[in-house]
Amino acid sequence: MVLFSEDHIQETKRRGRIEVICGSMFSGKTEELIRRLKRAKFAKQRVEIYKPAIDTRYSEADVVSHDSHTISSTPIDSSASILLFTSEIDVVGIDEAQFFDEGLIDVCNQLANNGIRVIVAGLDMDFRGNPFGPMPGLCAIADEVSKVHAICVKCGQLASFSHRTVKNDKQVLLGETAEYEPLCRECYLQAIKEDRQAASD
Ligand SMILES: [Zn+2]
Repeated sequence: MVLFSEDHIQETKRRGRIEVICGSMFSGKTEELIRRLKRAKFAKQRVEIYKPAIDTRYSEADVVSHDSHTISSTPIDSSASILLFTSEIDVVGIDEAQFFDEGLIDVCNQLANNGIRVIVAGLDMDFRGNPFGPMPGLCAIADEVSKVHAICVKCGQLASFSHRTVKNDKQVLLGETAEYEPLCRECYLQAIKEDRQAASD
C-alpha cells in the first residue's frame, strides 16, 4: 500500500517515531497526550487522533480527558483502519490504546517507518495488575516510553495500580472515580486481599 507521495516521505522521514505514554487510571495519560498534540498543532503539524470505538464514555468524536481538555478525534473499530486515514498527516495520536487489537503494534511501526510521529496513550495494566492488550508490545517497539503516575488515594505515594472498587470480572470496564481508585503497590496488595476476604465471607 502506498500511503504517501515521495515528497511527503522526504519531508517527514526524520520525524518518524513512536512515543508511548502509559500509566494507571488518573495518571494524566490523556492530558499528556493532548499537551503533546496541541504543541504539534502550534508547530503547524497536521495532527489526527484516533481512539477505539468502544470508549464512548463522554462523546463520540472527542478525546476528552477527565478534566475536560478536549481535542477532536475519530473513533475506529480496528487498528488497521488507522492506516486508511493517515495520508497527509504528520502526527498521529492514539488514546485508550489498551482497548485496540494486537495489530496496533504493527500499525504504529508502519506509521513511524513512513515518517509519522506516533503518540500512543494507554493503561499499562488492567485492574488485576496484568499487562493490558497491545500496551506491552507498544512499549517494546517505542522510541520513548513515559510512565506517568497517579497519587495513591490511601497513602499519598505515587500510584501505578488501578484498583476496581466494584465487583466485576470483565477486563474491559469503562468508568471513572466510582469504579476505580489509583493505589500504590502496597495499598493495592492490601486492597485485593480485603476484596478476597469480602468475597469469601
Ligand atoms: Zn498507597
